Amino acid sequence: MAKDLSRRSFLQAGIAVAAMPNIVVPKAIRPVVIASGNGYQFKNGGTETCVERAFRMMTSGADVLESLIAGVNIVELDPLDTSVGYGGIPNADGVVQLDSCCMHGPKKWAGGVACLEGVRTPSKIAHLVAASTDHHLLVGKGAQEFARAMGFQIEADLNTDRSRAVWLEWKRRTDPSHYLDPSKRGGGTEVAVQMAREGWLDPEHIWGTINCDGINVNGEIAGVTTTSGLAFKIPGRVGDSPILGAGLYVDNSVGAAGSTGRGEANLYGLCSYLVVEEMRRGKHPKDAGLEALKRVAANTIEKRLLTENGRPNFGLNFYALDAKGRYAGVGFTPGARFAVCDENGPRLEACETLFS
Ligand code: ASP
Repeated sequence: MAKDLSRRSFLQAGIAVAAMPNIVVPKAIRPVVIASGNGYQFKNGGTETCVERAFRMMTSGADVLESLIAGVNIVELDPLDTSVGYGGIPNADGVVQLDSCCMHGPKKWAGGVACLEGVRTPSKIAHLVAASTDHHLLVGKGAQEFARAMGFQIEADLNTDRSRAVWLEWKRRTDPSHYLDPSKRGGGTEVAVQMAREGWLDPEHIWGTINCDGINVNGEIAGVTTTSGLAFKIPGRVGDSPILGAGLYVDNSVGAAGSTGRGEANLYGLCSYLVVEEMRRGKHPKDAGLEALKRVAANTIEKRLLTENGRPNFGLNFYALDAKGRYAGVGFTPGARFAVCDENGPRLEACETLFS
């Protein structure tokens, strides 16, 4: 550090100077918020995206997790995102069932809800599980009763005309084929993939979720993941999103990781936990994420889940940031982008990929 730097230039350089003029506190972390791509897409009729709101709140002194949750609430409430919250594609019975979890690094809080019906913002309920109970995960009716007890209005139906129309079309085409024939184990999502090709479904949103993670200037880390899960899932199916270690994991001394994509593939290896553990061993978020994808690829052996050249035929992405403020998004193949907001503003960046 140059000796002639004035107190002002210390501050301009983002370096905190304590009250005693010659005591210099280590350089502050550059705050950043990252999210899946929909964190830079949906505004629910307002002016801010998820990452913008989270970053603005976080850098104005709001709690790091509360900022992230306020960010994902935009996407949960926006009916145009058919993979998260209100207007999410329903399950096989036409019912929107939502999953979410969150973790607060410094407080070591964690909370999740799964198969929650009737509440547009499951991330808020996950946060309340973390903040107001001794538990980490509430499901189904119990999660709904908890939400009611916490003052949330329970709505009879979270479908929009759009999500209901998509479900009706799916119903018309299928004879619930997503229950696998053990002798064939054909792909249960074939009809949904076909419907995506025809424009009924956004191909990105056969699966679809938002994961959002952030670190503030004090190095406080948190994360949240929220989803309506796999389109047309068997009622009661829970993916990776609300499961601590799968859809999200945070350790304040190391970093945060979260996921979107085929939940079953991630659940099998609890990969957000794996990503954080790889960062603990010193890996950059990018390399830690790619390590998790390698693990998923190695565990994917069924033909129905593989392309002709033996690679996973589904999407799975991880978003990770570490305690130094370094970050990355990763996926199997090129194309996916993830949302970032830091001092340089909000933007999309390309995910690093395992395969070319
Ligand atoms: N991971 C979510 C799930 O499997 C869905 C998604 O992210 O697309 O429920």
